[in-house]
Amino acid sequence: MQLKDKVAVITGSARGIGQAIAKRYVLEGARVAIADLDLDAAQKTAKELTALGPGSAIGIAMNVTDEDAVNAGVEKVVETWDGVDILVSNAGIQLVHKIENFPFAEWKKLLSIHLDGAFLTTKACIPHMYKRGGGSVIYMGSVHSKEASPLKSAYVTAKHGLLGLARVISKEGAAHGVRANVICPGFVKTPLVEKQIPEQAKELGVSEEEVVKKIMLGGTVDGEFTTTEDVAEVALLFAAFPTNALTGQSLVVSHGWFME
Ligand code: NAD
Repeated sequence: MQLKDKVAVITGSARGIGQAIAKRYVLEGARVAIADLDLDAAQKTAKELTALGPGSAIGIAMNVTDEDAVNAGVEKVVETWDGVDILVSNAGIQLVHKIENFPFAEWKKLLSIHLDGAFLTTKACIPHMYKRGGGSVIYMGSVHSKEASPLKSAYVTAKHGLLGLARVISKEGAAHGVRANVICPGFVKTPLVEKQIPEQAKELGVSEEEVVKKIMLGGTVDGEFTTTEDVAEVALLFAAFPTNALTGQSLVVSHGWFME
């Protein structure tokens, strides 16, 4: 087991990509806090994963944009399991508009969930990693950390920003054995993406089928969606890697949509 008894906080893990990462970690023996806005869904996921074992999970209510809620959630994890080894800052949303129509309130909301969320959860978890003499901070970026698409000014800006944050944390954390890396998935069929298909079709005046085939998967090597399990494998690699050799990096998992 690669994560036996490690304590992980995963934000936005009641469903979607975060849930798949939580499952992968529990299968490797980790104790996972399912930190999500939706407490009922978080508790349900935690129960299912604990039944799966060999690790276990708890559900925690957390709005990642609220400093007090983040600090209280992380404190609860520390009270329960006596520390934190891994943070996966994964909670995120998508809002699409042309720049001239982008409501300022939506711009601020998106940036806050992705960037304030990453900042606040890192700030709350990293002292506990320093206490333990090591840890792994993982940010959920995107191909949009490296590439741009129309209608996604806020998302692309936020996802590029996470690369910078990871590089700083990798330099600050090195002396304490704390690594920081970014996962950059291509399109994964979760509620976040399913919601975008009709929205983009409407904004761009094309069919939903065209959005999927041309816009979402047109650049991949095989026309395939990346899966939540694919992303979870990369999250396991970053969590379990044993030394500071793998830090300050970003790894694209996208069926070749973006190559570097
Ligand atoms: P999803 O919508 O399926 O799940 C997101 C989860 O985050 C939900 O459980 C939701 O309740 C939670 N959440 C939302 N706002 C929150 C907040 N303020 N505080 C705490 N939790 C909150 O989304 P997903 O597709 O699983 O996306 C997860 C992450 O992966 C996001 O950061 C997203 O940008 C990124 N990503 C997704 C794709 C994709 O194609 N789905 C691709 C690349 C990157």
